[in-house]
Amino acid sequence: MLLVPGAGISRRGFLGLGLAAAGLAALPRRAGAFQPVETKRLFEWKSLHAKAWAAIGQGGNSLVISDGGEALLVDTKMPVFGDILRREAEGVVGKVSTVLNTHHHADHTGGNHAFTKDVAVLTHTKAEPRIVAQVDRYLSGIKSAVGDMTKSSAAERELVADDFKRLHDRMGELRARDFAPTGTFEDGHEVSVGGVKVVLRHFGAGHTDNDAVVHVPSLNLVHTGDLLFQRVYPYIDRDGGATTVGWRASLRKVMELCDEKTVVVPGHGGVCGRAALNEQIEYFDRMCEFVAGQIKEGKSREDVAKMNPKPYDTYSNEWIRAIALRGIYEELGEKK
Ligand SMILES: [Zn+2]
Repeated sequence: MLLVPGAGISRRGFLGLGLAAAGLAALPRRAGAFQPVETKRLFEWKSLHAKAWAAIGQGGNSLVISDGGEALLVDTKMPVFGDILRREAEGVVGKVSTVLNTHHHADHTGGNHAFTKDVAVLTHTKAEPRIVAQVDRYLSGIKSAVGDMTKSSAAERELVADDFKRLHDRMGELRARDFAPTGTFEDGHEVSVGGVKVVLRHFGAGHTDNDAVVHVPSLNLVHTGDLLFQRVYPYIDRDGGATTVGWRASLRKVMELCDEKTVVVPGHGGVCGRAALNEQIEYFDRMCEFVAGQIKEGKSREDVAKMNPKPYDTYSNEWIRAIALRGIYEELGEKK
């Protein structure tokens, strides 16, 4: 997902979220650490395994893996949530020692500023120049989020108001280096978290030209980044290198990493399993077929962008639907 200031997932995600006080019983208590019973958290921290938790929504889904006193965080959501994401993640697992970004989009890298000074932040090589080039996008995200504060609940405001204000005050001094990775990787890079091996795979251009899939074989766990929008219209960012042909090819490779029990954390939408990867492939198969039919009938790109084809007419985040259809239309047109 790309952060679009003032619209879409960012705004609705934040305003639509209740406080995630429920489910805290599933969180581990660190030995000797005081943990208040009624800690209120902004994110819903979903326990996936004794060593893994997902924080759903408010930008891309994040994942935390913890073992042997080390912790790794995948994706940092939108800029205004960087600080609270770090506080809440470290409240769950202790100090975060490594951050991974699954791709450059601002709702997956915006919170990097809360980590880059003292934590290793890793992205695929091709993500780095794109992150460095989109500082304006991070800044406009901060601006619009501060305005959105007036529409959120009092309890939500209380949790994030100080962060928002501090970040807003820092806007004049934020630079590319505050968001840029401290290291990059290509396909097949491995990172250790305590005794847990985490493998980063890049299968070529798909959702962007810098997608990384995070595979944790010993936990049978995969974070797909935005290669999977779980029943959410997929954002096709052609300027960012998106190709639905490559996207499907990458998803087939991800499926090879999975079995029936694999826990799959998508970029957007709820935690799911292997079948959801196949659903995403089918979505593109059927939509490409649909759009090709419309092109044959002489429909323009904008005619097609207004359509709401079944059986996907009930997917979430309607504002992305037209972007997806336009993207497919353009890609099919290119092949001629
Ligand atoms: Zn994305």
